[in-house]
Amino acid sequence: MRARTSDVSTDSGDKTPPRLVLECTRVVFFLRAKSRKANSPANPQMWKEPSEFASHAFPPLIVSVFRQLASRSQEPKMRGSFTIFQRVSRVFRDNPSLSKLLVVVTVSGGGLVAYAEANQVNSPQITNSSSEVDFVSKKKKVVVLGTGWAGTSFLRNLKSPSYEVQVVSPRNYFAFTPLLPSVTCGTVEPRSIVEPIRNIVRKKSVDVQFCEAECIKIDAKNKKVYCRSNQNNNLNGQEEFVVDYDFLVIAMGANVNTFNTPGVVENCHFLKEVEDAQKIRRTVIDCFERASLPTVSAEEKKRILHFAVVGGGPTGVEFAAELHDFVNEDLVGLYPGVKDLVKITLLEAGDHILNMFDKRITAFAEGKFQREGIDVKTGSMVVKVSDKEITTKEMKTGEISSIPYGMALWSTGIGTRPVVKDFMTQVGQANRRALATDEWLRVEGCDNVYALGDCATINQRKVMEDISAIFIKADKDKSGTLTVKEFQEVIADICERYPQVELYLKNKQMRDIADLLKESKGDVAKESIELSIEELKSALSQVDSQMKNLPATAQVAAQQGVYLAKCFNRMEECEKNPEGPLRFRGSGRHRFRPFRYKHLGQFAPLGGEQTAAQLPGDWVSIGQSSQWLWYSVYASKQVSWRNRALVVSDWARRFIFGRDSSRI
Ligand code: FAD
Ligand code: MG
Repeated sequence: MRARTSDVSTDSGDKTPPRLVLECTRVVFFLRAKSRKANSPANPQMWKEPSEFASHAFPPLIVSVFRQLASRSQEPKMRGSFTIFQRVSRVFRDNPSLSKLLVVVTVSGGGLVAYAEANQVNSPQITNSSSEVDFVSKKKKVVVLGTGWAGTSFLRNLKSPSYEVQVVSPRNYFAFTPLLPSVTCGTVEPRSIVEPIRNIVRKKSVDVQFCEAECIKIDAKNKKVYCRSNQNNNLNGQEEFVVDYDFLVIAMGANVNTFNTPGVVENCHFLKEVEDAQKIRRTVIDCFERASLPTVSAEEKKRILHFAVVGGGPTGVEFAAELHDFVNEDLVGLYPGVKDLVKITLLEAGDHILNMFDKRITAFAEGKFQREGIDVKTGSMVVKVSDKEITTKEMKTGEISSIPYGMALWSTGIGTRPVVKDFMTQVGQANRRALATDEWLRVEGCDNVYALGDCATINQRKVMEDISAIFIKADKDKSGTLTVKEFQEVIADICERYPQVELYLKNKQMRDIADLLKESKGDVAKESIELSIEELKSALSQVDSQMKNLPATAQVAAQQGVYLAKCFNRMEECEKNPEGPLRFRGSGRHRFRPFRYKHLGQFAPLGGEQTAAQLPGDWVSIGQSSQWLWYSVYASKQVSWRNRALVVSDWARRFIFGRDSSRI
């Protein structure tokens, strides 16, 4: 062994490396030159004389290893026929220091690549010349609050370099919330569904800075946002700072709604954040371990292993299904002594669970849960939670009763964050649940402030509020009446500005607006219809009943983020050439088309590899095929390839080895 090592060091003095070394060097140069092509032309000298360069550029040990490989490849008769793998492993065996060298080269190579990438990203921010400084200072400052679905999708789609973006969020990552229920039982690991926000924004041409802090106050009058860092890095413990903005994007989401039910905050788990899911996972295992202690009475074991889920919406249902699978597929085998004591109860105040889904899905879910022993108590409202008991009131009879429980999850909907509530009071929206915006996502009552996602709701303009203005704009000949032709000229703008008109026509199965006008005019030929303002009012009187608030979902938040980023990208262009509908109450056109939500369908995983899917056009599918659709949609919707790979490997791991029940 020693002799071989000294052989190697003597060989390294030779200045004429064999053919294999030359070939390897040539490949390395080719790759290096290719990667550098954009920045610096490759040195032609290197191409001509690789052998000369090789002896200088490569450490002697590597050169000698190549030589050994080469010499072995040239002696097939002597040594028998080796595969490449055998040869490489032999070389590594013969040169123990080579493995260490490989590690060092790999690590430092990785470091170099990371350094190069970081430099590339950061380089535009280092501005020395005065003209560059001027350019940077002319940029409009956009402050984005939140790194959830809405904020992240805005950041990912913002492309215009004319903004300087400051992101403020207490969370330095994006979390894929639809997979949170899977994290509660270890089907998916928490790190698989999160992506650092700095990773997401770093490849952008836009100047984006991130601060891990929470917004504590918005001062729309002075265009300032007050923030507080949670990092305890000074003597006072917490640090506050102020950020100025030209445009503010509020995407702070919502918090849980407890409806002020006593004891909920103190005793229940929530499922909003990744930390919540991790806490639930630990508590479930805790319950099983505690119930397995010999000192615990049978009655107490039963209480500890009673899992109560409050709220029969998609989150509550999915958690109950996940927990049922976890218990039956993984835990019963590990805790044989207590398996028969486990109980899951789903409490819902309404008449049915999953009431936002098609009735067929609701019925299937209720039946499936019943068959599997999940106790679904509908019409049962939780009025109080103590550390060991949940008190419920029957909606029909008013009867009050108490159920002992070991762990409770509260998932009954969303409420307003205090900072958003405070801002709503400032802008005269005190009595609402969410910030009201117009159809362009601009917060009503202040300038250059946008709100999207769960913290906002679009206040769709009613047709009846603008009916006189519409009539005047449409009546081009100022005759005081509206012909079908006059109306048809503005109908495209009306449908764009008031989408409820289009929805009404569709629901009433009317082909065009003339059918609608005819409805109020009786038995008259379409072409000769002429309406007065009063007749127009009566024709459109039912249209506003079609308006619906958008659901608080990731789908809506993400689409709003994309929409707003696109508006920002084309702000200057659309200022000059507005592309929106006619302004009925003003002159000209709106700058942008209003936001339109496109519903792509929704899923309700029901456990046991069965999912209910409700796709556009009321297409309903329940079963294993939908489960595969769910897998593929959720894998494809991940924000990075890293997340995609991790989530898919987590699913594969669960299939092969089951879920991990360690309490860490
Ligand atoms: P969030 O995604 O909640 O993001 C809010 C952001 O604001 C966070 O980064 C937060 O840290 C930050 N923030 C909070 N306070 C402050 C502050 N003071 N200052 C600055 N930043 C702040 N939707 C679907 O469409 N399909 C699903 O399958 C689905 N499943 C779900 C499952 C669960 C368990 C949950 C909880 C939700 C699910 N949703 C689903 C709903 C979806 O997650 C939300 O509608 C979506 O997250 C809303 O996006 P958002 O950006 O408005 O808020
Ligand atoms: Mg007229």
